[in-house]
Amino acid sequence: MKSPLEAPEKSRSRGTEETSAKSASRADSSGGERQRPPPATVIDTSKMAKGQREALELAEAARDPLEDRGSFASNLFIGRYDFSRIHPYPTQPVEDRAAGGEFLASLQKYLRESVDADEIDRTGEIPQKNIDDLFAMGAFGVKIPKQYGGLGLSQVNYGRAAMLLGSWDANVTALVSAHQSIGVPQPLLLFGTEEQKKKYLPRVARHEISAFALTEWNAGSDPANMSLRAEPTEDGSAFILNGEKLWCTNLIKAGVLVVMARTPSKMVGGRERKQITAFIVDVDSPGLDITYRCHFMGLRALYNGIVKFTNVRVPCENMIAKEGQGLKVALTTLNTGRLTLPAACTGLSKRLLEICRKWAGERIQWGVPIGKHAAIAGKIAEMAGNVFAMEAMTFLTSALVDRKAGDLRIETAMCKMWATETTWRIADEAMQVRGGRGYETAQSLAGRGEEPVPVERFLRDCRINMIFEGSSEIMRLFIAREALDPHLKVGGAIFNTQLPMSERAKAVLSSGKFYAGWYPRQWLLNGAGKIDNLHETLRGHVNYAARTSKRLARGLFHAMARFGPKLDREQLLLSRFVGIATELFAISATCSYAQWLIGQGKPADEVLSVADYFCRSARMRIDHHFAGTTRNVDKRGYALVQDLLAGKHALLHDGIV
Ligand SMILES: Cc1cc2nc3c(=O)[nH]c(=O)nc-3n(C[C@H](O)[C@H](O)[C@H](O)COP(=O)(O)OP(=O)(O)OC[C@H]3O[C@@H](n4cnc5c(N)ncnc54)[C@H](O)[C@@H]3O)c2cc1C
Repeated sequence: MKSPLEAPEKSRSRGTEETSAKSASRADSSGGERQRPPPATVIDTSKMAKGQREALELAEAARDPLEDRGSFASNLFIGRYDFSRIHPYPTQPVEDRAAGGEFLASLQKYLRESVDADEIDRTGEIPQKNIDDLFAMGAFGVKIPKQYGGLGLSQVNYGRAAMLLGSWDANVTALVSAHQSIGVPQPLLLFGTEEQKKKYLPRVARHEISAFALTEWNAGSDPANMSLRAEPTEDGSAFILNGEKLWCTNLIKAGVLVVMARTPSKMVGGRERKQITAFIVDVDSPGLDITYRCHFMGLRALYNGIVKFTNVRVPCENMIAKEGQGLKVALTTLNTGRLTLPAACTGLSKRLLEICRKWAGERIQWGVPIGKHAAIAGKIAEMAGNVFAMEAMTFLTSALVDRKAGDLRIETAMCKMWATETTWRIADEAMQVRGGRGYETAQSLAGRGEEPVPVERFLRDCRINMIFEGSSEIMRLFIAREALDPHLKVGGAIFNTQLPMSERAKAVLSSGKFYAGWYPRQWLLNGAGKIDNLHETLRGHVNYAARTSKRLARGLFHAMARFGPKLDREQLLLSRFVGIATELFAISATCSYAQWLIGQGKPADEVLSVADYFCRSARMRIDHHFAGTTRNVDKRGYALVQDLLAGKHALLHDGIV
């Protein structure tokens, strides 16, 4: 049986973007609806509640199948560890670095000299001059090709820009990033027609801010609940949009939006399949009203709001991709768009590490600098290791995107989830290291003559990163879905009550035969094989990662055998497997990056000590995750919360205001 679990390592270089765009065009040629088995053959949705089934079927329909050869990170789940895919570290080519050099240098200088982040936070407004200057510099069209008025730079250069922005001002970062990572540029570059690109890309590259409108009151993590309607006009030339969108970042300043709307449903396999379609909508369209500006804990200058559509006419030529492909447009856009946040988080984490390094060296308590107290040193060591790993993972993945090195949706999701959560912890610990000064606002610090170090602003601003562009929980579900995919393809049919018995019996036979070969191999505790040019300290960690990948594959297989089709309900268990794989990816990226830095002449002792620290620390987290797969309180916790939701345990909210 040919299985993705044992697909050979061949057919390199099909990019994430290219892959997705090609798949979309394959879908086009089949008349809009992709000719692929309905999702029911992989996941049994028959026993799910209606809402859950609809959400899952919509997500499955929008999902492009993973390539059989998988990616470095997806293969970690099936015990196929191939370090050669990320080593030597895929560095930025010299020409590419040179191409971005001038822009990045001027962006850095401009931020330092002309963007007053504390003032922006205080006033809740980004001065129009800053926005105009950033447009003039090309900061809103970094990846837009030159022929359409952008800078035409690579993903790595865009990431480096995001790192600079993230280290300075989260409000400006959000403005620039929401505009081009999820706003009009990215979906148009991936799916737009030549006419759409010619019409809109020069505008959004040079002077017009864009935004992305998906979320509604009842549709946050669950777009299947979307209610904004787009009904075709009788003559078929346009759609009429009615409804509202919530929390649309950049809306208040935007000239053009990408709007996700429900178009008429289709019948698939005798059941209604909801259709979501993406449109480009000009903000000055009659019937479009911005009704409210939202305000948040952090990102005080976010131009985020509610937009209402009353009979807004959108011509068909403004549809992105085909009718019904909106969710695919959104998911594919985010597959690479998600890399901006980890790059910005890397910048912020570096800044916070710098703040802590300085403070821990100069603040004397109990007779010594606080960095000499092991409790504080331990926090800063974690920060240093994590900063190193975050940069390694993020720029490894960015470079692979530039090289079109296959489908990288798992890597980008891991980067997003890991970097945003780690940065939150770093900001939290930085506040602790700064003590009372960490909690005090920069303005108050300055008012009494101290250096205005804005740790509290950084903490407030970075919390949202774990919620938007795919919350941490949704990232874990997304990664787990892809992790299970090879197993679902081999054995999913066995448990699928929607399939005829004959097909399920056939699946038992073929998957039994398959696993009889695959499973014993997962017990062979061989390392990563021969790896050229890797320092022995790093080699030890890479071999550990190779062995642990097999242990992970076994664990996942055992869980599938134990829970069968109900495994998807074991979110906490799956999240441990996702946590293990993400740490393995981080260890591997760290080792590859460390070796490259040493090769570049960076002090080997410094590089090795931080990389080694990170890997050891990550291994402890992996131990913890594994321990939780066999010994946990998941079931009890779940039952407890169902009781709570049912109104029991009243004493837990007794005695409060
Ligand atoms: C500052 C800000 C800016 C934003 N910008 C934009 C924007 O530009 N465009 C846009 O379209 N949207 C935007 N959003 C919306 C954002 O993407 C959503 O907040 C996010 O998708 C989560 O949706 P929700 O808040 O409705 O949470 P819900 O979906 O209600 O989820 C609540 C909690 O439950 C968890 N959860 C939900 N479903 C599951 C599940 N199946 N399994 C496990 N856990 C689950 C979530 O992770 C979350 O922790 C923005 C939001 C904010 C606050």
